[in-house]
Amino acid sequence: MWNYSFVVPSALMMITLLGFYVRRPRLPVRMNRTYVELLIIELSVLASDIISTRADELYTLFSPATLYVANTLFFVLFLVRILWFYRFMTQMLHLSAREHPLFTMLSMLPFVVAQIICITSFATGAVFSIGESGYVSGPLYPLVSVIYFVYIILSWGLLFANRAGLRTHDFATGFFYNLALFVGTVTRVSMPKLLVMDTFCMVAIAIIYLGILNPDLYLSEHGDCFNMRGLRLVLSEPSHNRDYGLLGLALQNYNHERSILGGRQMDGVVALVINYLKKTFPNMMVFYLHSGRFVIMGYSSANWKRIQATIHDRFTKVWQRKDTNLRLSVAFVYADATSELDTAERIIDNLVIALDNAKRTDATDALDDLAGPLTTKQVDQQVNILRALRSAIDGNKVEVFFQPLIDANTRKLVGAEALARIRDDAGQLVPAGTFIPIAEASGSINELGGQVLQKTCEFIRAYDLEGMGVRWVNLNLSPIQCLQQDLAKQFEDVLSKNGVPSSMIRLEITERSMLDYSLLQRQIGELETDGFKFVMDDYGSGYSNLVRIKRYPFVNIKLDMEIVWDYFHERDVLLPTIVRGFREMGLSITAEGIESEEMAQAITDIGVDYLQGFYFSKPLPPEEFVSRYASAQ
Ligand code: C2E
Ligand code: MG
Ligand code: MG
Repeated sequence: MWNYSFVVPSALMMITLLGFYVRRPRLPVRMNRTYVELLIIELSVLASDIISTRADELYTLFSPATLYVANTLFFVLFLVRILWFYRFMTQMLHLSAREHPLFTMLSMLPFVVAQIICITSFATGAVFSIGESGYVSGPLYPLVSVIYFVYIILSWGLLFANRAGLRTHDFATGFFYNLALFVGTVTRVSMPKLLVMDTFCMVAIAIIYLGILNPDLYLSEHGDCFNMRGLRLVLSEPSHNRDYGLLGLALQNYNHERSILGGRQMDGVVALVINYLKKTFPNMMVFYLHSGRFVIMGYSSANWKRIQATIHDRFTKVWQRKDTNLRLSVAFVYADATSELDTAERIIDNLVIALDNAKRTDATDALDDLAGPLTTKQVDQQVNILRALRSAIDGNKVEVFFQPLIDANTRKLVGAEALARIRDDAGQLVPAGTFIPIAEASGSINELGGQVLQKTCEFIRAYDLEGMGVRWVNLNLSPIQCLQQDLAKQFEDVLSKNGVPSSMIRLEITERSMLDYSLLQRQIGELETDGFKFVMDDYGSGYSNLVRIKRYPFVNIKLDMEIVWDYFHERDVLLPTIVRGFREMGLSITAEGIESEEMAQAITDIGVDYLQGFYFSKPLPPEEFVSRYASAQ
C-alpha cells in the first residue's frame, strides 16, 4: 500500500509558495524564469504521481494503454524536474550554454538517454511494464534515481569549481538545496512505498527561495524598486541577453540636502522620485543605488533622449512632501550594457563613478550633455584610479608631497602646502587633481585625509622645519571631511599623539565647500578653538561671495592660478583692487601658479605676500624638500 500522507501537505505548500512568489516584483533574469518553471513542473510531478499511483492501485478499472500513458508521463516529468534543478544551478553560477556548448551537450546526455529508455518502456519493459497484475518495475527502474544522483553530483561539482566567484551565502544555498535532493533520492531508494521525494524537492525549492530568490534581497527599502544587488544580478546575465540601456540620475548636493533635511525626510523624497519614475516609465525597471542615485533600465533602442528630457522637465517643478515643497536638481549619465566585454561589476563601477562625478558638476541644464556610452578607455582610467586609491588607502601608502610657500619680498621659504599623491599599478604618481574628486565621491576622502594629516605630522616632527624657515604647513580640507561630526576631535587626537602644535597647521578650504556653510561654520569654530588657522583656497575659481568670506576666520587668501595668470596676461585694476581689499581686512594673500620670474615680480608688485608655483618648486617628497631647503638657508 502506498503512503500518501506527505503528498497533500507538500502540494499545499507548493501552491502557497507559488502564490507568494508570483505576486512580488521579479527581475527579468533566467533564474527567475527557471524557478517559476520549476514550481510548475513540481506541481505537475505531484499531480501525476498521485494519478499514476492511484491508477496503479486500481489497475483493474483502466486499460493497459491508460496505465502506460499515466506512468510514462510521471517518469518523464520526474526526470525533467531534476534537469530543471540542475539548470537552476548553471544559471546561478552564470554559466551560459553559448560559452560552453560541448559541456552543455555532454551534460544533457544522461537526461536524453534516460528519457528515451522511459518513453520506450511500453515496448521494452525496461523501466516498468503493465502485466496481468498491473504495474511492475523493470530491470532499469533504478535508472530514474541514478539520474538524480548524476545531476546532484554534477551540480555540486560545478558549485565547487566556481566557488571563488560566489558569496558564501549563495554557495551554501546551492549546496543545501542539492543536499535536500540527495537525501530525498536516498530515502526514495530505501523506502520506495513512502511518497516522500516530493517533500524533499519542496524543501529544495524553499531553500532556493529563501537563500537566493527572496525578493527582499533585491528590493530597495525605499519604495518598491530594485537595489544595487538587483542591478548586478540583471547585468550578470549572459551578454547576448543583455540588450539594455541604463540611464542614471543623481540628485545633486544629496549629502548636503540630507544633512539639512534629515534622513527620514530625504528618504521620503527618494521614495517620491522612485514612484514618479515607476509611474512614468511603466515598462522600464527602476533601481535605487543609495545616496541619491537612481538607474532606469530599458532596451538600448529606447528613445533615451526623450526619457531624459521628460525627467528633466519634471525636475524643474517642485516635489511636494507633507507641507514641504522641495526643488531638486538632477544630473544624468547614460551607459549601455550591450558590450560583451563589460562585466556587471565594470558596468556598475563606471555608472556609479560617472554618477558621482555628475552629482558634483552642474550638468542639469545642459541637455546636450547627455554623456554617450562611456568609452572603455574612460572607464578603465576611472576604475584604475579607484583601484589605486583603494590599494593606497588600505595599505597606508598615501604619499604626501610638499610644495614651498615663498615670502614674496624676501624670497625665502615661509611654509609648505601638503599635497596627497598615490601611485598607479605601474608605480607612476597620480596627481591629486585626478583622484581627489573620486575619493570624495567614493567616501574614502576621510581615510585619505587622515593619512595625509598623520604623515604631515610625522614630517613636521622628523625635521627641523623651523630652522628652514617653515612657520606652518598648509593642509587641504575637503568639504566631505567637514561632514564628520567629530572632525575637530580627530584632528586634535592626531596632533597630540604626534606632539605637533596646532599652530603649525593651516587648513585650506575651497570656496566650493563654503556652500554648506551652517555645518562648516560649526566645524571651523571648533577647530579654531583648538588653535588651527584657516586659509581660503582657490579664490576666484568659483562662487566668490565676499560676505561669506567675512564670516569665516581666515588669515590668508590664496588666489587661484586662473586669476593670477589672467592678470599676468592682461593687467587690469581688478586683481590689485581685490588684493588691496583683502589686505585692508587684515588678511595676507598667497598667489598660486607662479611659473616665471616675471609673474613673481608682477604679482609681488600688487601687494601679494606669498608665492607658490613651479617657478620655485614643484611639490616634492619630504626628503627632497628637506635636502633642498636645509642647505638653502
Ligand atoms: P590646490 O590646493 O589648489 O593645490 C595646488 C595645485 O596646483 C597642486 O595640484 C599643485 O601641484 C598645482 N600647482 C602648484 N604650482 C603650480 C604651477 O606653478 N603651475 C601649475 N600648473 N600647477 C601648479 P595637485 O597636487 O594636483 O592638487 C590638486 C588639488 O587637489 C589641490 O588643489 C587640492 O584642492 C586637492 N588636494 C591635494 N591634496 C589634497 C589632500 O590631501 N586632501 C584634500 N582634501 N585635497 C587635496
Ligand atoms: Mg590647496
Ligand atoms: Mg589652490
